[in-house]
Amino acid sequence: MKFASTRDMKKTVTFREAVFSGLAPDGGLYLPLESPDLRPLFERFTAETSFTETATRITSTILAGDFSSDSAAQICERAFNFSPELRKITDKIYLLELFHGPSCAFKDFGASFLAAIMEEFLLSHNKRAIILTATSGDTGSAVARAFKGKKNIDVVILYPSGRVSPLQEKQLTTIGENVIALEVKGNFDDCQKMVKEAFVNPLLQRKLNLTSANSINLGRLIPQSFYYVHASNLLKTKKNNLFFSVPSGNFGNLTAGVLAWKWGLPAKGFIAATNINDVVPEYLKTRVFTPRPSKQTCSNAMDVGNPSNFERLQALFGHSWEKMHSLIMEDVVTDKETMDTISEIYQQYKIFVDPHTAVGYLAAERYLKKRDSSDSTVVVLSTAHPAKFLEIVSQATGVNPDIPSVLQEALNLPKKSILIEKTLEALTQFLLKTFT
Ligand SMILES: *Cc1c(COP(=O)(O)O)cnc(C)c1O
Repeated sequence: MKFASTRDMKKTVTFREAVFSGLAPDGGLYLPLESPDLRPLFERFTAETSFTETATRITSTILAGDFSSDSAAQICERAFNFSPELRKITDKIYLLELFHGPSCAFKDFGASFLAAIMEEFLLSHNKRAIILTATSGDTGSAVARAFKGKKNIDVVILYPSGRVSPLQEKQLTTIGENVIALEVKGNFDDCQKMVKEAFVNPLLQRKLNLTSANSINLGRLIPQSFYYVHASNLLKTKKNNLFFSVPSGNFGNLTAGVLAWKWGLPAKGFIAATNINDVVPEYLKTRVFTPRPSKQTCSNAMDVGNPSNFERLQALFGHSWEKMHSLIMEDVVTDKETMDTISEIYQQYKIFVDPHTAVGYLAAERYLKKRDSSDSTVVVLSTAHPAKFLEIVSQATGVNPDIPSVLQEALNLPKKSILIEKTLEALTQFLLKTFT
């Protein structure tokens, strides 16, 4: 399959080029140029088909020109030593738990796949690369964990000193091996600025092979489509009326669902569920897209005022509001409603959900109520483990959720970070000293 920028569909690139450049040179985002009909493949899947098997078959079909089916299988086996789990809540609502990976959030799926394909590409070309990334806390740990122990790859992760939660800091600083945590004496914007400047610095460009692994990377987007297919495999009997409710911030998760739908996923529609950062729901209601600064909420991984994947969504629907609107419904959930939902789900089912999942859950409930959708089933994407948002979840329910062992292990390990100044000079010096 060929790929092209959302801003110029004529200039095509290979998967490898798209993965290592991240953003297209024209500032657009990469998308598949074709929409293969994978329905014959999807129809052969059953409820017994494992997630890794589903991932392997899709990878070896759509990336046939890039990987042999053997290496597709190897990549998926290495990437996915964890699986999504479908949990039935009612006859009509299911949670697709995407938090059983190493950092306990759905971003593990994209990050692990990206790490596995980058390793494969680098090994086969006998090259090395350094992943350089800045994090405000949460998303960095998925990347860092995914790249741990990968051959021919080093990871340098910048985080703002004293501005991430204690659990997040432990998740970033206890990985070791090829992952280095730089604790920057500044805020997240300083970290991001240093990384951006490093990427365009001529000296560093000449001496080092710097690569980013940020969330717009096509290598993180594609694998997120796999779990939609996996859920539909498990719900074959409901396939004529299947909906997905997707708690959204940058809309990568939802975009991946739309990709799967284009390939033949039996989905009737998607619910774009956001917190009060609602530029996309507003667009779906009014046809007007007005990016603006984000507001802080309790589902903070979705505090996004200018979602990067909106450009991809528009391209996928041929810039037609009507087409997007006919597949995607919208809902906006306030913090109060989020807290109430966490509490209600706990009281009714004795299940903890994190605030992001709660946003998707309430949107699903309201959708089912609004329409007399007697035969609809909604799968809510559950994007993070409740223990990652311990304070909020215990405040809402009055009870502390159990901390999963991967998080507990990180908490017990000693923090290892290197404190540096918030300047490009400090970063340059560190990189050259360490890697040349
Ligand atoms: C990143 C994130 C989201 C939002 O996903 P997008 O792909 O950016 O829309 C939702 N929930 C959690 C827990 C996240 O980390």
